[in-house]
Amino acid sequence: MKVLVFSAHAADFCSRAGGAIIKIVEAGGSVDIYDLSYGERCESPALWVRDPKPTIDEVKAIRKQEMEEAAEILGATINCYDFGDSPLVVSPERQLQMLDTIREIKPELVLSHWVNDVMHPDHVETTRAALWACSYCNAGGIETAHEPVGRPRLICYETTMGTSPISGFVPDLYVDITDVFARKIEALKKLAAQPPLPEVYEILNRYRAMEAQHMAGMSDCRYAEGFARIGKEPVA
Ligand SMILES: [Zn+2]
Repeated sequence: MKVLVFSAHAADFCSRAGGAIIKIVEAGGSVDIYDLSYGERCESPALWVRDPKPTIDEVKAIRKQEMEEAAEILGATINCYDFGDSPLVVSPERQLQMLDTIREIKPELVLSHWVNDVMHPDHVETTRAALWACSYCNAGGIETAHEPVGRPRLICYETTMGTSPISGFVPDLYVDITDVFARKIEALKKLAAQPPLPEVYEILNRYRAMEAQHMAGMSDCRYAEGFARIGKEPVA
């Protein structure tokens, strides 16, 4: 399976879907990740407390290296549009850029943030643009560098730990990541500008595993990632 992952900030792809990315690659699939920004303003807390304060370009350079190292551990390629974050604004021109990425890569599946991740507007903006790009990548009347392609399926990954009661994120798909969980944590540790990530997502993935045990009969599952599908078509 060819999979394209859109991620608002440097680490989102890894914290929310890193285990599933490893599983897809291990099964013979390919995963290309496109970060919309480096998360330089709102998701690089450990860098902004340094004295002297780094420049924005220094923060972006550090985050670039972190996310490349994390993606390598997952077995995926990674690029960054560098749209800037907080506020992350995807203009019509940038939407076309994302649409053209879909036409170039021709994924069967696109992963992005939960459509209603209201506690983080940059995430909502990302999926608004991703949904548009998935919906119109087949339109002959929209000209970009690459030819129109069939529409990929869009599946949403986790909201920020603790916000799902507000955002209404309820998984209807669980991926058992028990056997690759250590690698996911290894990748998360590369994203050192966000020190809480390994602990936070260990708790969340353990919790999702309990849901998977009860809701999906995945009795041996110790760690899981939860996803919500847009629409109700079956996923192979
Ligand atoms: Zn984020």
